[in-house]
Amino acid sequence: MKVNCSICLGGQREGVFVNCPYCDVDRKTFIEASFKTIKVSLKKNLSVAKQNELVKFLNDGSGNSDNL
Ligand SMILES: [Zn+2]
Repeated sequence: MKVNCSICLGGQREGVFVNCPYCDVDRKTFIEASFKTIKVSLKKNLSVAKQNELVKFLNDGSGNSDNL
């Protein structure tokens, strides 16, 4: 998973952060989460409909958010 670098705020900070050592040229940095964290996060943040869509997507790849 890639997000804006939290050290240089995606390149917004200046000074020593101009050449930020914590992110790549896109000012993005990888974050990793355990499978358990991802599961908990999905359950907490997704609506039931989205959860069902995710299950469907994982099963046969047919999840379609256009309907939601
Ligand atoms: Zn950075």
